[in-house]
Amino acid sequence: MAPDIQAPRGTQDILPDEQPWWDYVRDTAEKLCGEFRYTQIDTPMFEDVALFKRTVGDTTDIVQKEMYVFQDRGDQELALRPEGTAPVCRAYIEHGMHNQPQPVRLFYITPIFRYDRPQAGRYRQHHQFGIEAIGDASPSVDTETIEVLWRLYENLGLTGLTLNLNSIGDAECRPRYLEALRAYYSDKLDRVCRDCQARVERNPLRLLDCKNAECQDAVAGAPALTDYLCEACGDHFSQVRGYVESLGIPHVVNPRLVRGLDYYTRTVYEVQPVEEGGQSTVGAGGRYDGLIEQIGGNPTPGVGFATGIERIILNMKRQNVNLPDAARLAVFVVCASAAARVFAFKLASDLRRAGLSAVVGDSDRSLKAQMRHAGSLQAAYAAIIGDRELEANSVTLKRLADGSQETVPMGDVASRVRP
Ligand code: ATP
Ligand code: MG
Repeated sequence: MAPDIQAPRGTQDILPDEQPWWDYVRDTAEKLCGEFRYTQIDTPMFEDVALFKRTVGDTTDIVQKEMYVFQDRGDQELALRPEGTAPVCRAYIEHGMHNQPQPVRLFYITPIFRYDRPQAGRYRQHHQFGIEAIGDASPSVDTETIEVLWRLYENLGLTGLTLNLNSIGDAECRPRYLEALRAYYSDKLDRVCRDCQARVERNPLRLLDCKNAECQDAVAGAPALTDYLCEACGDHFSQVRGYVESLGIPHVVNPRLVRGLDYYTRTVYEVQPVEEGGQSTVGAGGRYDGLIEQIGGNPTPGVGFATGIERIILNMKRQNVNLPDAARLAVFVVCASAAARVFAFKLASDLRRAGLSAVVGDSDRSLKAQMRHAGSLQAAYAAIIGDRELEANSVTLKRLADGSQETVPMGDVASRVRP
């Protein structure tokens, strides 16, 4: 039966079964941020709409087609957060963080709202984990953010990813490139899509990013950004590449890579999984040296990334990544006889005191039914206590991932199952 009011299109309930995946991704991200000393920042779920118009850009898809904008009862025009960087930069200025040692290293985990076309891996409310390093222009900081993103995927067990890198220059050299790009497109306007026809004047860099089949020939022959970089941008980019190389992170320079937000300068990057397709980018980021000035701060460089948690989990499942035992229910205690019940409760209690999670099965149900229950709770281990085990003061400990089992003294269970 369906209720006559359902969750809005493009949103989803994250049900209890899914939560271990979310916990695992969040925990892994937070732990990693601790290693690099990025600390968490939470900003409001909505902001003055001008914040995004000015930074993300008036002519971008996000501002033109995707933002959830509303007027509150005091006639303030507000937007549900469509991305995480501009709010963090606003907070950086508002709280005088330029007085702290630079760069200021921050991370966030937050819902993001975009009126996107819902499909697998694309929602109207999704969640992003992102980091920002604000106040340092040096290429080693670009690389640090790339390293955090790469390590996140590595720690989560994702494989087969490709890091795409590019530099889109700065106010010094980009105008020259845009001129060349416009000139190149000037005799191809009848062969590209309507959006691209409009982009030539309004936002030419986005021409490179068009996903329409009819525009791909034009994109393929377009001049390469990297050929137009000024000396400072060229130097910066080659240093980023050198550092990335030295960290052993496999990457390709993709001169067509641009991003959907106007505030980027110099380094941009994206991580793609093996599977192709428009919905496939798992994470993306870059440098935004003009952003803070655009919203009234002193000129301050910054760099960061955002990665979609739904897409991370989607890719983990596609790649059959198993949740580690530490992210699961540690022990499901199976009572194979009524007499075992009191021992089962005692064992579960001891395990919890030892810092492990434990659930006791229903002794009125069959061994098989209890094992099924353990499976549906995604337990790492089942500890089976029956008459035979009671006599020996032991349990049969079964690891559910591979079915291996052993007999263990009751008092040793905690140390045996500890991940
Ligand atoms: P796309 O080209 O797929 O629309 P984007 O360039 O709009 O992505 P970003 O603004 O860079 O995406 O957001 C960072 C990450 O957030 C993306 O790499 C992706 O993992 C995730 N993401 C973006 N939009 C959505 C969405 N509508 N639903 C789910 N995840 C999303
Ligand atoms: Mg998008």
